[in-house]
Formats: sequence, C-alpha cells, structure tokens
Amino acid sequence: MKRDAHIHTPFCPNGTTIPCEDYIKKAIKLGYEDITFTEHAPLPSNFVDFCPKEGNTMSPGRLLVYMDEMQRLKEKYKELIYIRIGFEVDYLEDYERETTSFLNLIGPHIDDAMLTVRFLKCGQSYTCVDHSFDQLTSLVRKKDTLQSVYNLYYKTITKSIQSNLGNYKPKRISNPLLFPTDELQVNLLFKQQLIDILKLIAKHNYELDVNYATLSKLYCNESHPTVSYISYAKSLGIPIIHGSDAHHLDDLHPYEEGLFPFDR
Ligand SMILES: [Zn+2]
Repeated sequence: MKRDAHIHTPFCPNGTTIPCEDYIKKAIKLGYEDITFTEHAPLPSNFVDFCPKEGNTMSPGRLLVYMDEMQRLKEKYKELIYIRIGFEVDYLEDYERETTSFLNLIGPHIDDAMLTVRFLKCGQSYTCVDHSFDQLTSLVRKKDTLQSVYNLYYKTITKSIQSNLGNYKPKRISNPLLFPTDELQVNLLFKQQLIDILKLIAKHNYELDVNYATLSKLYCNESHPTVSYISYAKSLGIPIIHGSDAHHLDDLHPYEEGLFPFDR
C-alpha cells in the first residue's frame, strides 16, 4: 500500500494556499492509495506562542471548518483514495493537561495523528525551532552552544514519548532529526541520544514518522533521516510510516522510493 501519512494544508498559515483537493489529485496521480492530512493542531489557549508571526499552527477558530472539509473530501474521493483525517500535535512541556484535553475532544473524530516536538522550553519561554533559522540561532545564543540546543531537543523528545497524554495520545512519533545537520555530526555527537530515543519508541510500541521535508528545505538538503537510523529502527521492530511533510504541492513527492527501495 503506497501511503503518504504526513501532508499539510492551507489551514495552517505556514503551509500552502493551494487547496487540499490539489494534493489529493496529485497523490492519486502518483499512485498513492492512502494519505493523511496532518495539520498542526491548535495550541492550548493559555499557551503563549513566542513566535506567532511564523504561523505555527491552525487557529482554534478553524478547527471545525477543517474537520468538515476533511469529512467532505474523504467522502468525495473514497472510491479513489483512502483519506485519513489527522493532526500533527505539538508536545509542549508542562502543557500535558491541556494537550490531553484536546486529544480527548478530537481523538474520537480523527483517523490518525502524530506527536511532534517543535517547541523547546528554555527558562520560562518556548522557542519554536521548526522552519525558522532565526529562532534556532536565537536559542543557540541563549543556550551558548548548538550542542546544548540539541541536548534540550532530545531531552524534550524523550519527555514527549514518556508523557501521559491519555487514551488518544498519538502512536506515531515525528522524525527525531528536525534540525539541519549532517550525518557525520549526528554520528559524532548525538548517536547515543538517537539510539536511546529509538529504543524508547520501540519500548512504547510507537511508530516512527519518516518524512522527506528535509529534501526540499533550505539548509536541509541531506537525506534525513538517514538510512542507517531507519534500518536500526526497523531492526527494533518499529513500524516506519512514510510521509512527505508537504507544505507545498511540489513537496508531495515519492522521495522514499529512491531512498528506501527495500520498503516497497
Ligand atoms: Zn509536518
């Protein structure tokens, strides 16, 4: 079954303005049989997003419109492709209660979800390190070194895997190689952290999101996640779930077929 389990939509300001139907038509043309729209879920109302201009998530006011549109598309294209209604849910350290409430509310009405770490807590504030090189560099200034930012990132991912977010906690953990880096650097400095994270994912019987956004983003032209870590994850019995992490129509691309032919 050819599946893309990680596609964004116009419902999030950091995504595209291209209608969801264009993604569906392209997915059908590329031979996908199963796709998930995983828009960034709204953040808790009491969470202060320190980089709101970046448009990190769907606004709460659009939640019902998103759900209605997903239901409509799922029904309309059901003979051609299986569309899963989903969310990419941010793990926010110290907002576990609010996140659990959201998941309990939305969980019974969706088909798929994954848990992502994009916000890192430093002192009393949070920095979103996804898609903003400026935010990342400001955090490096606060933490002194890039290595301490990585350590904070891996520590937060570990917490996200161990956190109790209720019965509807997503079973899929987002690719733990968000930052721009290269394989050599990862192997030298962070190999053990990544191995520990993969072991923890296996222990909790979670799945691993393997996405290809890195192949189409500035500063991220390495083939992340690297084949060696994916092979290791598979050796631990972790289900690998492929996704493009498409934020634009061009991103919807079967990169995995070139990188992981052994999966097909
Ligand atoms: Zn995503």
